[in-house]
Amino acid sequence: MPDCYIAMGGNQGPVRETFSLALEHLDQHPEISVIKTSQWIETAPVGDQTADPFLNGAAHLSATLSPESLLSVLQQLEADMGRIREVRWGARPLDLDLLLFDQLIIHTKDLVVPHPACWYRRFVLDPLAEIAADVIHPEKQITIQELRQRLLAKPFQFVLAGLPSEEAAILIKNLRQQYPEVQFSSWETQGSVAPTSQEPALIAWLGSPASPTKFEDLPLIPRLNLSEYQQNSERIVHVLQSALDFQ
Ligand code: AMP
Repeated sequence: MPDCYIAMGGNQGPVRETFSLALEHLDQHPEISVIKTSQWIETAPVGDQTADPFLNGAAHLSATLSPESLLSVLQQLEADMGRIREVRWGARPLDLDLLLFDQLIIHTKDLVVPHPACWYRRFVLDPLAEIAADVIHPEKQITIQELRQRLLAKPFQFVLAGLPSEEAAILIKNLRQQYPEVQFSSWETQGSVAPTSQEPALIAWLGSPASPTKFEDLPLIPRLNLSEYQQNSERIVHVLQSALDFQ
């Protein structure tokens, strides 16, 4: 039976009970078994849509249904638990994401697996590493534990790629003021990172199809495609908040 991993999150109502209830429902499904769950961790909200802390966790499921059907089950469960979907990053009683479905790689309109944020958001990665340390991330081709370990290296190195150099310089200047402990650089200005330093934790690609640096030119493990987001600065801050210490 395929091994699946889901992320659980919530910050509204009795979240611990909601998690228990959701897991009971999943386990009662004829095609799903709950194998293991992580500890639940309290995390600070990312962004400023809600001030209430979140509870986050991960669960290992064994499932015989298709990835699409499993997503539908998760979405139905979210709806049953009264999630309000309007506000991105907003308050929610239950958020369920499908992180991994065996070693499948899926990129459709409604489903992306592995979940695009499961390798750099600490509030997802930390609980996942507890129950899936040695599982290989099928796109990054290293284990979940190794992905987490990479984010702990200090100084945290964050590289911007795909932007015109003046734009990158302004963005980096602003980001340095907000995050003095992070080492920012531009991929194009540096060419690549100095050979003496470790590989950057993240390389955020903010380019367009016309950019001289293509997303595919960047190293596989740290690259993160942020091109579809308009607000570069806000998006990067969210990425940084979720990749750095989160409690
Ligand atoms: P969110 O509100 O952030 O939970 O996102 C929900 C939306 O993401 C839904 O429209 C899903 O179809 C889509 N989605 C894409 N991939 C996944 C995934 N792996 N797990 C959960 N939702 C996904």
